[in-house]
Amino acid sequence: PKDGLSPPWYPTPKGGQDAAWAESYKKAAKLVEQMTLVEKVNITTGTGWSMDMCVGNTHPVPRLKFPGLCLQDGPLGLRFADNSTAFPAGVTVGATWNKDLMYQRGRAHGKEAKGKGINVLLGPAMGPLGRMPAGGRNWEGFGTDPVLQGIAAAQTIKGIQDEGVIATAKHYLLNEQEHFRQAWEWSTPNAISSNIDDRTIHEIYAWPFAESVRAGVASVMCSYNMVNSSYACQNSKLMNGILKDELGFQGFIQSDWLAQRSGVASALAGLDVTMPGDGLKWADGKSLFGPELTKAVLNGSVPMERLNDMATRVVAAWYQLGQDDTKTWPLPPPDGEGGPNFSSWTDEEVGFLHHGSTDGSTGVVNKFVNVQGEGNDFHGNLVRRVAAEGTVLVKNEGNLLPLDRNGWKADEKAGQMTKYRVGVFGEDSRLNKKGINNCKDRGCNEGTLASGWGSGAVEYPYLVEPLWALRQQFNNDSVYLVDYPSNHLPKDKTLLEEQDVCIVFANADAGEGYLSSDKIRGDRNDLYLQKGGDKLIQGVAKGCGGGKGKVIVVIHTVGPVLLENWIDEPSVKAVLIAHLPGQESGNSLVDVFFGDVNPSGRLPYTIAKNEDDYGPGSKILFFPNGLTPQQNFSEGLYIDYRHFDKQGIAPRYEFGYGLSYTTFHLSSLLVTSHGPKTPLPASRPKGIDPPTFSTDIPDPKTALFPPGFKKLSKYIYPYLSSTDGIKKPEIQTNMLQSPLSEAGGAQGGNPDLYTEVLTVSASVTNIGLVDGDSVVQLYISFPQDYKDPESGEPVDFPVRVLRGFEKVHVEAGRQGPIPGVKGSPHGGGGNSKKVVFKVTRKDLSYWDVKKQNWVMPTTGEFEIQVGFSSRNLPLQEKW
Ligand code: BGC
Ligand code: BGC
Repeated sequence: PKDGLSPPWYPTPKGGQDAAWAESYKKAAKLVEQMTLVEKVNITTGTGWSMDMCVGNTHPVPRLKFPGLCLQDGPLGLRFADNSTAFPAGVTVGATWNKDLMYQRGRAHGKEAKGKGINVLLGPAMGPLGRMPAGGRNWEGFGTDPVLQGIAAAQTIKGIQDEGVIATAKHYLLNEQEHFRQAWEWSTPNAISSNIDDRTIHEIYAWPFAESVRAGVASVMCSYNMVNSSYACQNSKLMNGILKDELGFQGFIQSDWLAQRSGVASALAGLDVTMPGDGLKWADGKSLFGPELTKAVLNGSVPMERLNDMATRVVAAWYQLGQDDTKTWPLPPPDGEGGPNFSSWTDEEVGFLHHGSTDGSTGVVNKFVNVQGEGNDFHGNLVRRVAAEGTVLVKNEGNLLPLDRNGWKADEKAGQMTKYRVGVFGEDSRLNKKGINNCKDRGCNEGTLASGWGSGAVEYPYLVEPLWALRQQFNNDSVYLVDYPSNHLPKDKTLLEEQDVCIVFANADAGEGYLSSDKIRGDRNDLYLQKGGDKLIQGVAKGCGGGKGKVIVVIHTVGPVLLENWIDEPSVKAVLIAHLPGQESGNSLVDVFFGDVNPSGRLPYTIAKNEDDYGPGSKILFFPNGLTPQQNFSEGLYIDYRHFDKQGIAPRYEFGYGLSYTTFHLSSLLVTSHGPKTPLPASRPKGIDPPTFSTDIPDPKTALFPPGFKKLSKYIYPYLSSTDGIKKPEIQTNMLQSPLSEAGGAQGGNPDLYTEVLTVSASVTNIGLVDGDSVVQLYISFPQDYKDPESGEPVDFPVRVLRGFEKVHVEAGRQGPIPGVKGSPHGGGGNSKKVVFKVTRKDLSYWDVKKQNWVMPTTGEFEIQVGFSSRNLPLQEKW
């Protein structure tokens, strides 16, 4: 395909060709075989916005004991739910670089979903990827690199799905900005088109989705925007071609809410489920599937084969996750006690059964089931750990941090009789006075920031105030703490002048485009701290201790912020980027602050010195540049650190960077090759045969509303009111078969792409004085003068790309002298741990647009680099 085009890819590959799903498809086929046309349509179509308990609901097939499915946001907790956890946001999780924590958080999240009767969780988010640092929803995902994002997404999905809940990889694809994501919020006739070349899709934006499919994700959500001038939810290249053929996706594709823009075209392009059911407007009772799909199948516009596949994909996903087990997933009434036990639309116990309808029936809708875990398993403990590990220490001059609770270490003078004095400044240190859940979907920035806003936010069960947590921790006998939790400098100058240490809080917020706050319509307007944060920090830096105080800056943020207005102020000694910590905010902060947790967060994005340093492709399109706004991804592969490295721009803090309270040393790089370089993966393996069904088209009269049927207003049904104008198709259309991708053959793509080609190991030693976690990162440089062997054309590669990371705990050395380490009290040769990376064929290949396959360069040399950040890579070896 030529760059920037959406070539046709038909027909939709059938689910059930992967051995890992064989049993589920067998069972699903048995069930779907018994379904009538309208029953099949019913499970592909939501019941309509706010018609049932969840943000998305499908119809049941009661006759066959197939329940309606509850689909609920979102990526950091359960939206519109009570007694559940507000986990740290994706960006915080990404900043931990801790695979185990990524999994544990997913697992706890999945457990909570199950406890509330949620079948399908609408997360994790892995798009936007963060091409534009100001993108409103970047924080829902894990960081601006496909490998980091892919590993974090896969770990999250495994966690969620190990609890039996269907995870959703969203948003597919290229919904990188909120402005113009769809037409109605932004008053343009069409949504924005993200225009991109095929290689960049594969190597950057689709990569995390490939990892998600490889992890077995059972649902994918297509996005609002267009990709190469074709709506993502009707883009056959993206859905049929890349996702279902090349990546071997076995689950179902659901539309983002009202992202479906056509009926027949979407079904043929690979859309399986429409959400929330309403087609073009919220809660108007009209669907692009529902009766329209029934009609389209009856008149042959959508082959029965396609509808069978759509329905089977949904049912197979349900079996694959074990949701047919009525012990853990009891059926909803009248057959059981299951189904969602909460309502998205009211906090009261009794409420409307069909909120969006004029039907007035009521019942118990909220059972207030507490799913937060108990004892050791209380999920708040996990939240605290993730948030502490997702906190990045970027500056720590003179080792000011960790502070001593008694004030000692920070200033030896405090050893005398005078009290050590600490001042806390900034609105972000305290709670929102109007209540922690004051604004709808957290759509305002007031008080301390612990989440972004939108469908990816939840209600906090509680929120630990940073100021409170600091007060609890400092020793009152030796430390005198004053606070001025406002973004204005105190009028009383002594409040600043008298302090030994000043702790100043500031933040930057963003969210989903249907809400705006402080003139921010989703995407941030700039990359500076908000609400006067920079001015506040400058003022504190000047005034603290009359110029002699030491300043610690704490930042809560949705993504990269520019620090240049104050980072070089001599009094600014320490800076913590605490991201979006979730409900345990204050606790996780003090853990790092006082050294109970040695900081091990690393930046999941680059912090630049100037906004322009991110490059022309990094700019949000704030004003439409045409009837259909266009975003050209002409920078291709060069986003975030790939751009800085290519252009030789020095960032303030590079991707992967972060400090520790100890010092690590790397040695003993070993690169073991398991065979010679070969350009192509083995040929695509043949899958198993998908189930087959009768494709007979029933008598249209069977699709009419049953006599005496009682309709709820605005509710979406699959039935027809009349069969007028429906003609049985005479011939079944024989569609062309697009060639199958050689890069396909299993979930995530051709299994040979994941063959281990290199094993890389290194040794990391803690040469400092305290125990700590090191994040060892593996980067690879492709051969730099490489030419395509057939055409002789040069192939351009980024300077280096992340290919793996491992977080390891290494204790400080305790015996023997540490050579060259000054002041080591009782010595210690330093403890070491070995880290091992498995490098796959895909890791060492690029996407060849002509061959439509992953190609490994066989001439020239790769450089394998191991280190502590994208710019601190002490170990290097050629291969
Ligand atoms: C968002 C999705 C979300 C859905 C349901 C959409 O507006 O883009 O991320 O899952 O709403 O709330
Ligand atoms: C959101 C929904 C939200 C709705 C309100 C959508 O864009 O994602 O979940 O509640 O807007 O209109």
